[in-house]
Amino acid sequence: MENLKTRCVIAGGGPAGIMLGYLLARNGIDVIVLEKWPDFFRDFRGDTIHPSTMQNLYELGLLEKFLKLPHQKTRRMVGHIGGEEITVADFSWLNTRAAFIAFIAFIAFIPQWDFLNFLTAEAKQFKSFKILMETDATNLIEEDMPPDDKGVRRRKVVGVKAKNKDGEFEIRAELVVGADGRHSTIREKSGLELVETGVPIDVLWFRLSTKESDPEQSFGFIDDGKVLVTLDRGDYWQCAFIIAKGQFDAIKEEGIERFRLRVASLAPFLSASTIELKDWDQVKFLSVSIDHLKTWHKPGLLMIGDAAHAMSPLGGVGINLAVQDAVAAANALVPAFKKGKPTEEDCAQIQKRREWPTRMTQRIQVFMQDKFLTPYLKTHGPLKVPWILRLFQKFPPIRWLPAHLVGIGFRPEHISSDLA
Ligand SMILES: Cc1cc2nc3c(=O)[nH]c(=O)nc-3n(C[C@H](O)[C@H](O)[C@H](O)COP(=O)(O)OP(=O)(O)OC[C@H]3O[C@@H](n4cnc5c(N)ncnc54)[C@H](O)[C@@H]3O)c2cc1C
Repeated sequence: MENLKTRCVIAGGGPAGIMLGYLLARNGIDVIVLEKWPDFFRDFRGDTIHPSTMQNLYELGLLEKFLKLPHQKTRRMVGHIGGEEITVADFSWLNTRAAFIAFIAFIAFIPQWDFLNFLTAEAKQFKSFKILMETDATNLIEEDMPPDDKGVRRRKVVGVKAKNKDGEFEIRAELVVGADGRHSTIREKSGLELVETGVPIDVLWFRLSTKESDPEQSFGFIDDGKVLVTLDRGDYWQCAFIIAKGQFDAIKEEGIERFRLRVASLAPFLSASTIELKDWDQVKFLSVSIDHLKTWHKPGLLMIGDAAHAMSPLGGVGINLAVQDAVAAANALVPAFKKGKPTEEDCAQIQKRREWPTRMTQRIQVFMQDKFLTPYLKTHGPLKVPWILRLFQKFPPIRWLPAHLVGIGFRPEHISSDLA
């Protein structure tokens, strides 16, 4: 394989990497994205596109085209707690606060691979964009920097080592971006310090067919020590069964039939469909983790998305935070590339901008896990609706708050006018 040279190399073709690649290429910055799989079609990894991301697509003139892709719209998050129906969030209230998103006051459910294929096809229209599929970023290339004022020599990242079916090669770049997800190779090779937050839950994902008689919108079912999230994906329900950490082996030992009963007792409308679960191979195990890097950068390297801060699936905000990181990074990096080379200070500014929203979101996820989910998983027998959720029933306008936190989040990013 021939060695390559570019201005920016991005390891990882997930929402963070593809969005950043698109934005750099759109602004004439040569960029190569490396994706280790041959396509974007893989196991379920979340497929919610929130108003914050749709706002960015709108600013880029891509929203209309994006919404032509098959998707489902969800305007309310409805939970069933102890058999009672409670509306927890109402995205249509976002209208009143943010007129600019009046027409996108919903969550769009769209397979992540459709979103990534869409964005990649748009990016490929720019000759500055190159994506190498089936190419693994295996290591960083580092070189000594000249000594600083105190005589200390630091190392600078000047590219990545990569591998594909034809062999190993190097890509030299002015900036390497690690966007290779929660098990990031780039992060591991960089030596940047990761701080992990203990998480008390794991998730079992599976699909069940929908029927015409199914309820229209039902996000969650909580009762008798069990928690089930059901996401309407048109002809199937994407189900997430939340369990206490480390319990999967014990659940498996009880057998798939017992598991089917657990699901059906919580959401009786799924009873007939649960028969489709015949084997544990149909149930994907997700070990939930929440972590963050203390520092997202070092000379020549910037980390974004899950590689910088793995999110819990609670609220389904991971894709959207990854996109927000990419937008903030592009807003800072495009002018820096246009002036010369991005500096470590530019990368520090990106961390400064994005660290607070991600850490706040993670704190809320931890709070929800500790205060609600874990106690629910321990409460056997019928459950009472907590008073705080009763408030959401009594005063519908306050459903705006969870809708805002999930749909838009803290410090939403906008495409800077130079980039748009
Ligand atoms: C089961 C599950 C359900 C989820 N549900 C939701 C949801 O409903 N809504 C939501 O918003 N978020 C959800 N999330 C979280 C969301 O998927 C992530 O937060 C989001 O995808 C992060 O984007 P990213 O680009 O940072 O990383 P990723 O999406 O992980 O992308 C990283 C990419 O890098 C590639 N890669 C990895 N290593 C290398 C390497 N060495 N070289 C080259 N390429 C590499 C990977 O193949 C991948 O394509 C869920 C996550 C999981 C696991």
